[in-house]
Amino acid sequence: MLPVVALVGRPNVGKSTLFNRLTRTRDALVADFPGLTRDRKYGQANYDGYQFIVIDTAGIHGDEEGVDAAMAGQSLRAIDEADVVLFMVDARDGITVADSALAEYLRKVDKKTYVVANKIDGIDAEVAQSDFFEMGLGDVYGIAAAHGRGVEQLLDKCFRPLLDDYPELLVADAEQAVSEDLAHDEIDYESLPLKLAIVGRPNVGKSTLTNRILGEERVVVFDMPGTTRDSIYIPMERDGHQYILIDTAGVRRRGKIDETVEKFSVIKTLQAIEDANVVLCIVDARETISDQDLNLIGFALNAGRSIVIAVNKWDGLSPDHRDEIKRELDRRLGFVDFARLHFISALHGTGVGNLFDSVREAYESATQRINTSKLTQILEMAADEHQPPLVSGRRVKLKYAHAGGYNPPRIIIHGNQVTRLPGSYQRYLINFFRKALGIMGTPIKVEFRDAE
Ligand code: GDP
Ligand code: GDP
Repeated sequence: MLPVVALVGRPNVGKSTLFNRLTRTRDALVADFPGLTRDRKYGQANYDGYQFIVIDTAGIHGDEEGVDAAMAGQSLRAIDEADVVLFMVDARDGITVADSALAEYLRKVDKKTYVVANKIDGIDAEVAQSDFFEMGLGDVYGIAAAHGRGVEQLLDKCFRPLLDDYPELLVADAEQAVSEDLAHDEIDYESLPLKLAIVGRPNVGKSTLTNRILGEERVVVFDMPGTTRDSIYIPMERDGHQYILIDTAGVRRRGKIDETVEKFSVIKTLQAIEDANVVLCIVDARETISDQDLNLIGFALNAGRSIVIAVNKWDGLSPDHRDEIKRELDRRLGFVDFARLHFISALHGTGVGNLFDSVREAYESATQRINTSKLTQILEMAADEHQPPLVSGRRVKLKYAHAGGYNPPRIIIHGNQVTRLPGSYQRYLINFFRKALGIMGTPIKVEFRDAE
């Protein structure tokens, strides 16, 4: 599990600026699903050696102001979902009415809160910070989100107390991955249960598929207590292999009184992806593939997870309609061209069995042992077939390659000036390795190291 950090505060204090800095991307997952709260933006942050989930509550609607905006439902929901709240204020403005209203709320809820005074660039930070101390929420941390100043210190402060509870918070660096690589040889992945997360937007058919898979297998399901944030983990066996289904749809709650509990939660989905070995992404053939679908798949990709894509509700569509859907998918899924695509009907059970072939293939690809001499041989073949280009008038020299980790497979390439290889040649190498190693269903990470 990754810890969840919420950014709250009135408009214009710099929440989006900090969000973008922490996630280094503008492709956030926006919780805008039909019928659900639509004003929170979720992203995976990777900053200063920490990884976590961050929620931005910046007015996506933009029509509320001041107190209304600060106290809007989305802020309160984000506070509820978070482990840590960063309460942002504008160091240049002093305490405003909206700040006080939110401070009063935060003093009452039992949530670890840090007051963050933003925009300390070019002003006397200490004076500004002491102003906000009056809000009675403890120390005030000065930052300049736009420039990154103070952000690392703030994160160290927030995360130190969480390290025991959230070991995944620390990003494993490449050196550590290499040492884990040695441990990898001892692990018998075949005997471990494969954790399979079933994710997708509401109503794509996750519950139907889960029930279909479980119904066929007649497994005993353990009902585990959980909050909206927790998926349900269901152990099962299929064709002699052990699995743990990570059910984000909340099927087990069916028929219970708390059915009103929001069925879909972005946090739950992100945590499930993080915890899975293979992510089964479901899209609905009857809806055009949306940015939200692509963002979910993109999130699984960034997390380095193996991916299988299932296009559900394939039953009862005309041949023309099917062709049209296939063309659309081709066009939009280029960024995950390594993932197998299945056309299924969870309702009728067609195509469901074949899904598991791809799931296993992806898992085996992600965990297969790759030896150094083979990697170096492949590297030489790649260079023979297509010479590396000149960089600043000198030919780049590829020397050797070795495995740097698994899940996803990581290949480290050493040589002269290799860090300066153009993107096109890097992609060529990645594809060459993928083909030569027969890797399907999982992303591959290739890193370049220059000889000293
Ligand atoms: P939000 O409404 O809370 O999400 O605020 P934004 O992130 O949109 O920022 C509001 C304004 O403050 C923008 O014009 C930003 O460029 C500016 N801003 C954000 N961070 C800083 C900072 O560290 N220093 C300064 N001087 N301006 C900032
Ligand atoms: P979830 O929110 O992703 O768990 O979606 P559900 O499993 O609850 O399904 C949403 C709706 O789609 C329900 O009415 C299902 O009966 C319907 N549905 C699910 N799978 C299929 C399918 O393969 N074909 C058709 N035609 N309908 C389906």
